[in-house]
Amino acid sequence: MKVDEKRDFLRKNYLGEWLKTRQMVEDKISNNICVCGKLATGFHERCCRKFHKKVDAETIKLMEHLLLNPKGVSNE
Ligand SMILES: [Zn+2]
Repeated sequence: MKVDEKRDFLRKNYLGEWLKTRQMVEDKISNNICVCGKLATGFHERCCRKFHKKVDAETIKLMEHLLLNPKGVSNE
Protein backbone atom coordinates (compact mmCIF):
# COMPACT_ATOMS: atom_id res chain seq x y z
CA MET A 1 0.00 0.00 0.00
CA LYS A 2 1.26 3.45 -0.85
CA VAL A 3 1.16 6.24 1.72
CA ASP A 4 -1.76 7.88 -0.06
CA GLU A 5 -3.68 4.63 -0.09
CA LYS A 6 -3.04 4.03 3.58
CA ARG A 7 -4.17 7.54 4.42
CA ASP A 8 -7.32 7.20 2.36
CA PHE A 9 -8.07 3.82 3.86
CA LEU A 10 -7.68 5.06 7.43
CA ARG A 11 -9.67 8.20 6.77
CA LYS A 12 -12.48 6.23 5.20
CA ASN A 13 -12.67 3.44 7.75
CA TYR A 14 -11.50 5.08 10.94
CA LEU A 15 -12.32 8.74 10.53
CA GLY A 16 -12.82 9.40 14.25
CA GLU A 17 -9.54 7.77 15.26
CA TRP A 18 -7.79 9.33 12.29
CA LEU A 19 -8.79 12.86 13.25
CA LYS A 20 -8.01 12.32 16.90
CA THR A 21 -4.61 10.77 16.26
CA ARG A 22 -3.76 13.31 13.61
CA GLN A 23 -4.56 16.19 15.97
CA MET A 24 -2.34 14.64 18.60
CA VAL A 25 0.53 14.22 16.13
CA GLU A 26 0.03 17.74 14.87
CA ASP A 27 0.33 19.11 18.40
CA LYS A 28 3.43 17.02 18.97
CA ILE A 29 5.20 18.02 15.76
CA SER A 30 4.13 21.63 15.86
CA ASN A 31 7.02 23.79 16.93
CA ASN A 32 8.35 27.32 16.58
CA ILE A 33 10.08 26.23 13.43
CA CYS A 34 8.12 24.21 10.91
CA VAL A 35 9.52 20.95 9.47
CA CYS A 36 10.22 22.90 6.27
CA GLY A 37 12.46 25.33 8.16
CA LYS A 38 10.14 28.32 8.07
CA LEU A 39 8.76 30.11 11.08
CA ALA A 40 5.69 28.14 12.06
CA THR A 41 2.54 30.11 12.61
CA GLY A 42 -0.82 28.41 12.80
CA PHE A 43 -1.54 29.81 9.38
CA HIS A 44 1.66 28.51 7.89
CA GLU A 45 1.13 25.01 9.26
CA ARG A 46 -2.35 24.86 7.83
CA CYS A 47 -0.95 25.64 4.40
CA CYS A 48 2.40 23.88 4.52
CA ARG A 49 2.49 20.74 2.43
CA LYS A 50 5.62 19.42 4.11
CA PHE A 51 4.08 19.82 7.52
CA HIS A 52 0.95 17.93 6.50
CA LYS A 53 2.97 15.22 4.84
CA LYS A 54 4.95 14.71 8.02
CA VAL A 55 1.80 14.68 10.15
CA ASP A 56 0.15 12.17 7.80
CA ALA A 57 3.21 9.91 7.88
CA GLU A 58 3.38 9.96 11.67
CA THR A 59 -0.34 9.39 12.01
CA ILE A 60 -0.20 6.43 9.66
CA LYS A 61 2.67 4.98 11.67
CA LEU A 62 0.62 5.16 14.86
CA MET A 63 -2.41 3.59 13.19
CA GLU A 64 -0.60 1.04 11.07
CA HIS A 65 -1.99 -1.89 13.05
CA LEU A 66 -5.48 -0.96 11.84
CA LEU A 67 -4.40 -1.45 8.25
CA LEU A 68 -3.67 -5.08 8.97
CA ASN A 69 -6.98 -5.65 10.63
CA PRO A 70 -9.69 -3.81 8.71
CA LYS A 71 -13.03 -3.24 10.33
CA GLY A 72 -15.85 -5.27 8.85
CA VAL A 73 -13.63 -8.11 7.75
CA SER A 74 -14.23 -11.07 9.95
CA ASN A 75 -13.46 -14.74 9.78
CA GLU A 76 -17.08 -15.82 9.63
ZN1 LIG B 1 6.28 24.62 6.67
